[in-house]
Amino acid sequence: MKLNTITSFLFLICFSLSSIAQTTADDPEIKKMLSEVKSENMEATVRKLVSFGTRHTLSDTKSNTRGIGAAQRWVKSEFDKYALASGGRLTSVIDFFTIKADGRRIATDSQLGNVMATLKGTDPTDDRVLIISGHLDSRASDVMDSKSDAPGANDDASGVAAMMELARIMSQREFPFTLIFVAVVGEEQGLYGAKHLADVAKNGKWNVVAMINNDMIGNSLSSGTMLRDNTRVRVFSEAIPYLETEAESKMRKATNRDNDSPSRQLARYIKTVTNQYVEQLDINLVYRNDRFLRGGDHTPFSQNGFTAIRFCEMNENYDHQHQDVRKENNIQYGDLAEFMDFEYIKKVTCSNLATFSNLAWSPKAPTNVGIEVKDLTNFSTLVWTAPEGKSVYGYNILIRETSSQHWEKAIFVKDTKAEIPYSKDNFLFAVQTVDALGHSSLPVFPVPIR
Ligand SMILES: [Zn+2]
Repeated sequence: MKLNTITSFLFLICFSLSSIAQTTADDPEIKKMLSEVKSENMEATVRKLVSFGTRHTLSDTKSNTRGIGAAQRWVKSEFDKYALASGGRLTSVIDFFTIKADGRRIATDSQLGNVMATLKGTDPTDDRVLIISGHLDSRASDVMDSKSDAPGANDDASGVAAMMELARIMSQREFPFTLIFVAVVGEEQGLYGAKHLADVAKNGKWNVVAMINNDMIGNSLSSGTMLRDNTRVRVFSEAIPYLETEAESKMRKATNRDNDSPSRQLARYIKTVTNQYVEQLDINLVYRNDRFLRGGDHTPFSQNGFTAIRFCEMNENYDHQHQDVRKENNIQYGDLAEFMDFEYIKKVTCSNLATFSNLAWSPKAPTNVGIEVKDLTNFSTLVWTAPEGKSVYGYNILIRETSSQHWEKAIFVKDTKAEIPYSKDNFLFAVQTVDALGHSSLPVFPVPIR
């Protein structure tokens, strides 16, 4: 196509300006997978994990009925059941590593172990990796108390249950690249399991396109304010990447990219996909890496330069979080399964599954995404390079006003260059690839081209 001929060019643009949820049809296979998510499975997993009494990182590792060791071996045995059903494409391991005494929450040198299942991709030339996690460890009121009961039903058996449900369902399908499902440990002692895996990924130069952390996704009633809300879930994403070179920082400021980090793009992607596939669940984008002054298992991944976000329930209940199991003034404290909302976990798991499978089937993202700035014009021209690998059906140019938190429009095009009647002075843009079934890559924010 002659791109200097605007008329012929505009002719080729499919001008179906619409809300982005309508630009792609539902993928029947994703819908089928979503129908396989069962709240009974989540409840059974949570209750099984609670049955180990405590899963404190430094609790008993020898017993087969109590402590972190028993819990790790049980999760691995479940992964191994899924592996059988997957025809051996899913493999599992307890990835042990040593953490030195830190004078804080690790009293003596300790061996920790993440329980990890890997679903190998079908395309050996596709080196992308997706990671989903929950944390296996739990805690009582005293973070160093490794003996008392610490059921950890919501924090974070809920996240582990979601991760395991994805592993079970997705391992029965084929995806082009590697998917990792992991129950990390050491979260309550200082994010040690996630840090270990993030370092393995960084040192191994893994091409991690997204890391999704689920931590507390099963409680729908807040303590104190008594808000009940099972129709929203928070997704936390960093505004400005932890790792930013001086040149990147300069470019971010020049292009007003303060709200368009790769992790923020992932958060918006989750909102789009959830709107499309999950009823009665809205993604509440929180413009923070985590809750105020706090962190989670996605944080070490962000710190290593990866795209990572956290799912967390809309309202937290502090009577059932980091509390010894006890009754005081007729109030039951403790993170017990009886306080959980398993229909809510199911919806959040569906959001995870729709997102993860859409990404896992997506073509690679476009590269060299740029926006032309040589002429003063009220049109904007975006150019990019088609990715290698899986064939691309087309591209979505995503558009929103600078004050909007979410993409408002999508223009579908087949070419790798497009001129659109929206001024770069008034709108923000990004470009994503789309395959024939509507699976889309993460959006890429353009850099100026002079
Ligand atoms: Zn937690």
